[in-house]
Amino acid sequence: MKLNIANELRSPGKAGECALRSQFDGFEFAGRRIEFAAPVTVKARYVYDGIGIDVRGSIETAFVSVCARCGEEFTEPFEANFSERFVKSAEDCRDDCYMFSTDVIDLSDMVIDNILLNMPIAGTCSEDCKGICGVCGINLNTGQCSCSNGG
Ligand SMILES: [Zn+2]
Ligand SMILES: [Zn+2]
Repeated sequence: MKLNIANELRSPGKAGECALRSQFDGFEFAGRRIEFAAPVTVKARYVYDGIGIDVRGSIETAFVSVCARCGEEFTEPFEANFSERFVKSAEDCRDDCYMFSTDVIDLSDMVIDNILLNMPIAGTCSEDCKGICGVCGINLNTGQCSCSNGG
């Protein structure tokens, strides 16, 4: 996911805006498979202050998740806000920064980092998912069983 900042580098203090969209590959993280169900959309505002570029905006996508209650796959929407700084040289970095070297910034690492930071821990396919029967294992969203409902 590439952001062209050529215009902003020529005119410090002037903010640019972008809406980028690209498909990301799934990956493993902490023993969990992260699979994208939709392209990643990044809307950002960015401004060059003469040293670095501040980029802030939102990340939107959806994951193929497994319901923590019933174990079925479902599409889990994701949205997070971010605010990051990109600098050309490590000496210009006061806090956490990403590096850039040309007038095109690759946002991919930053996007993945922010997704992982805001990753939902264990979602459910719906708020009222009935889960699976602890006795016979049937998915109670799609079927009924004759086990007692005492739980
Ligand atoms: Zn469920
Ligand atoms: Zn049952």
